[in-house]
This record gives sequence, structure tokens and C-alpha cells, in this order.
Amino acid sequence: MTLFNLLVSGTYSYVIASIFFMVLFGAFVIFNRNEKTPTNTALINTIWLAVVTSIIEITAVASMKDPFSPPLWTTILYTINLFMMVVCAMYLEVYTFSYLARKAEKKPIYALINRVFLAVFALILILNLKFHFLFEFTTEGHTTTTLEFVVAYMIPLGYLVLGMIGIITRRKILSRREFAALLSIHFLIIAGAMVEAVTDNELLMVSFAMTMSLYIIYTLLEAPDYRQLLETNKMLAEAEEKANEANKAKSDFLSSMSHEIRTPMNAVLGMNEMTLITLEDESLSDEEKIKKITEHANHIQNSGDALLHIINDILDLSKIESGKMDVVEAPYRIKNMLDEVFEMFKYQASKKGLYFKTEVNGQLPGYVMGDVVRVRQVLTNIISNAVKYTKNGGVVVYVNGKIEDDTVIYEIKVEDTGIGIKQENLDKLFETFTRLDHENTHYIEGTGLGLNIVKRLLDLMDGILKIKSEYGKGSVFTVYIPQKILSEETIFSSAQTQGNTKVSRKKFTIKGIRILVVDDNEVNLFVAENFLNQMKATVDTATSGLMALEKIAIKHYDLIFMDHMMPVMNGDEVIKKIKEDPGRYGINDGTPIIALTANVSGGLRDKYIDEYGFDDYLSKPFKFADIAEVISKYVEEIPE
Ligand code: ADP
Repeated sequence: MTLFNLLVSGTYSYVIASIFFMVLFGAFVIFNRNEKTPTNTALINTIWLAVVTSIIEITAVASMKDPFSPPLWTTILYTINLFMMVVCAMYLEVYTFSYLARKAEKKPIYALINRVFLAVFALILILNLKFHFLFEFTTEGHTTTTLEFVVAYMIPLGYLVLGMIGIITRRKILSRREFAALLSIHFLIIAGAMVEAVTDNELLMVSFAMTMSLYIIYTLLEAPDYRQLLETNKMLAEAEEKANEANKAKSDFLSSMSHEIRTPMNAVLGMNEMTLITLEDESLSDEEKIKKITEHANHIQNSGDALLHIINDILDLSKIESGKMDVVEAPYRIKNMLDEVFEMFKYQASKKGLYFKTEVNGQLPGYVMGDVVRVRQVLTNIISNAVKYTKNGGVVVYVNGKIEDDTVIYEIKVEDTGIGIKQENLDKLFETFTRLDHENTHYIEGTGLGLNIVKRLLDLMDGILKIKSEYGKGSVFTVYIPQKILSEETIFSSAQTQGNTKVSRKKFTIKGIRILVVDDNEVNLFVAENFLNQMKATVDTATSGLMALEKIAIKHYDLIFMDHMMPVMNGDEVIKKIKEDPGRYGINDGTPIIALTANVSGGLRDKYIDEYGFDDYLSKPFKFADIAEVISKYVEEIPE
């Protein structure tokens, strides 16, 4: 039977149809693919291999059945056919495992094993050409051994079974569709091979099964729109997870904050109510009442401070997170800042019965350029933790440093004999709202924000924080902050020239200075007015921009404090009106106008001074000392 006769006999119609179909299909897949991936490359390779294998198979079987075909020719074709069958089965499994690997996001390890195996297999087939231990074609026909059955059927079958085991064991990471598609192609090919074996190559079904399998793979797993859909679904799932995380973070934040805010709030309201009760208590003498009320007022002050501290921390964090925290550099004397901070903690430590010692290297540069507010914030946070988390013993602060060119790198080391931090917790120190060692710290006030802020502020200032700690023994927090040196002045010489500049509540007086305070909130107005009265200033008030303008038109003031956000007319509009009409408001030409603002967004200076035209600003809430400090910038202190 010639090849042509065989082709038209019908026995091979499946193979011929498959070849035609696969050629078209291969071209379509290449044409239609958006991007090269390991799986679609494996699929295309398998299609071409299947085409070549089918052609070789058809030729080999035709040669076997053709009595005039030389036996050596048949042997070679048959050998190549066996080899290609194994290659095809192997490629199908390369596809299967790369698909599984894509889902598991792991690299397949089968590629190397496969290559080695193919080389050994090819060697065996080549040796068979000489030694005929598998099969042989002679003029009498086909002599075969059991070994041929093993090589021709068991090895491809082994591959397929391996693939099926891979699919079944990883079924959890596959969708139903993927599982069904991958498994069914394996069944199809095994069934095709069985038909061929049973009909003794009379019905060549493997190529057909292969074609069907490749088609299934393409339509169910590799079609670009399906892959696109999977990609979109994955992105949606990730977006949902992120949104849920953000939502959870928000809820955690709110619950944590409401707890932290309610605690001092409870003290403020409770103490205030106690004051009212004390006032009505007729069993108490006036002296006893004053004593109690003073005590309550001090508690209110402390809780209010704690409340403000928490709110500031939250705002700082949100400013840092939104990139709005700016480091505002200005010349300062580190000695003043250190004295202030040390003074505060000396008092707090002594209240707890702890020692508080400081050792400052006086030879270090004392007059430098930097953001003193942020440097102070870093130190305060670290020293306050040291005092907070120490029950016995105390805290020592060492200030040292080294000079590099025109910069001094201050090294501030805070050593405590406190509860210490477990080694495994050191990494968690900077997480927001994370408080460690619950059994030892739950009774100590804190939000878990402080160190996070310290770390981020140091990042902004090119500083570093190093922590050493021994659980149960104590901790050492060391910060390194570079600041530009501005003069030869040392910390020691600053000490001789500088006094403590903090204004005292009792002493600061500006008798006769005329001040206008503008605020639509009566309570805030009341607080400012009272502070100013305490300073013996002559105070006028206005509750709106219009009212302020009326007063500014007729009376000269030495200073004006003005709320920015007010109904009808904002503070900046008032300023505009004054500037636009010098004839009407000339009497106050040159009077400094200071913004009273509860605005906390970054760049206050840019906004209030450069944009709105105020001369300065004072953030709410302000204390007596804060308002006094601003006033002292514009008017000389005038004692009685
Ligand atoms: P907070 O003190 O408000 O809880 P921080 O961010 O300042 O928040 O500190 C986070 C945690 O680190 C604290 O809750 C505490 O468990 C631990 N910690 C910080 N400083 C010290 C210290 N000096 N000694 C022991 N533990 C500390």
C-alpha cells in the first residue's frame, strides 16, 4: 500500500483532519496572543510538536504497512515517532506544570529533569537501532519485546499520570473550570492511546485526542479574554483587600483614639463637676473649697495637656503621612531647649521617686540651625518613655556629639533602669498604635504613636535612632541629629549668656497696652480676654469681623488677635478691608495682627503670613505662656 493509498483509505482521516486543524489553530493562537507567557508559549510549542508528531506517525505507520518500504527506513521512522510521542507527552506536562506553577507562583523544577530524561530516552532509542532490544523491522515484519511496550506506552503514560497527580494534589488552588479542563485533556489522550493500542494502530486516535486537548486548553484556559478576566478579577480582589485593610485601620484608629481621648476627657469633665459640687457644698469652709478647687483645676490642666498631646500626635502623624510635615529650620541655642526639657522631666521623675541626671558635653557647638520644635519633640518623646516605663532607679541623659565640617551631629543618649523591651519586640516598637509588654504597660498612659513619630521626624531631619534594651533591666535610646553650626559659641558659653526665656505666668505684665481680640466663639474670647487681663493689658473684644472693623476704625490698638475662620467675614477679609481703605483704618496702620487659628495643616507660616497677610499666628489651644511669648515679640514687657 503506498502512502497515497493509505492517506485516502480512511484509517488516517482523523490524523489528517487533526493536522489541518492544528496548523490553523497554531496560527490563530499566535496571531491572537497579547503577550508571551510561559503557558501560552508551552501551548504553542505543543501545537507544533503535535503537528510534526502526527506527520511522523502517519508516515511511520504507512511505512510499516507498506511491504515495499525498506525495513531500515521503517525502523528509523518508527524510532522517531516513539521519541516524538514522548516529547509531546512531556510538553503537555510542561504546560500543565507551568500552569500549576503560575497559580502557585513557584518556578517549575521539572524542566531540567525532563531534559535529562529526554536525552537518556533518545540514547536508548539510538542503541536500539544497533542492538534491537526494543523492536526491529525486518522483511518478515515487526519483531517486538515487552520492553518496547514499556517504552512506547508506559513512558508517555507515566508522564500523563504524573501530570494528573500534580493536578489532583493541587486542586485547591485551581478553579473548577481549570481542574476540569486540565484533567479532561489527560483523560482524552490516555483514551486515544488506548484506542491505538487496542486496534493495533488501525485507528490512530492520539493525534485527534491531542488536537481536542489543545483546543480545550485554549478555549478554557488560555483565551486572551479569559486571561484578561482573571487578571481583572485578581486586581479587584486585591483592591478589595486593600480597601478592607484601610477600613479596618480606620476603625482600629477610631476605637483606639476614642479610648485615649475619653480617658483624659473623663478626668476634665469629672473634675469640673467636682468643682461645681464643691462650690455648692455648704459643709466646707471657703478655705477648704479653694484648696479643693485648686486641686481640681490642676487635674483639669494635666488632663487637658494629655488630651492636647494625643491630638497633636495624631495630627503630626497624619501630616507626616500626607507628606505635609515640614522641618522649619531656624537658628537656635540647644542649651535653652535642653534646659527646658530637663526641667520638665526632673520634676516628673521626682514625682515618681526616680533620679534624673544629665551629663552635657559643654564643648559642643551651642548655636545651630535646625528645627528646634521637632528636635524637642524627639527628645521629649524618648525621655518621657524612659520616665514612664521605669518604676525604680531612674534616667540619665548624656548629650555628646562630633563635628563633621560645618555640622555637629548631636548624640543624645537616654538610659533608663526600667522594664526594658523583649528582643523579639524591638522590631514592633515603631508600629503605630502598638504597645508592647501588655502586662507591664497597660496601666501606663500611652497611645503607641510616640516612637513612630520620633522615627519619622528623625528621617525628615536625617537623624538616626538606636535602641539597646535588656528585658527587666532597662533600655538605652540614642538619637543622632545633625545640625548646622552657626557660630563658635559652645553649649558652655551659651549657658553664660543665655537665661531662661520662658515667660512666667505671674510676672509677665503689659500694663496699658491696648489689645483687640476678635473671635466668634465666646468661650475662646473669654479665655483670651482673661489671660490678657491677667497681664494687665487694656482689652477690647469683638465677636465678628464687621464689629472688629468698626472698632479698628475708631481706636488705636497696639496688637490685634484675630480668629481666622468666622461667619460672614473671615480674618483675612478683615485684613484686606483694612489695607484697601487706609483713610478709614489709618489709625491702626502698622498694628500687628496675629491670627488665632485652630488650623493644623502644614505650612502655617506660608498660609497665614504670606497668603492671608497676618503678621504672626498663634495656634489654638494656647496657654498663658504661649500668648505671652507672642506678645513679647511685638511689645516690650511693661511691669506695673
Ligand atoms: P506609648 O508610650 O504611647 O505607648 P511609644 O510609641 O512611645 O508609645 O512606645 C511604644 C511602646 O514601646 C510602648 O508602649 C512600650 O511598650 C515600649 N517602650 C517605649 N519606650 C520604652 C522604654 N524606655 N522602656 C520600655 N519600653 C518602652
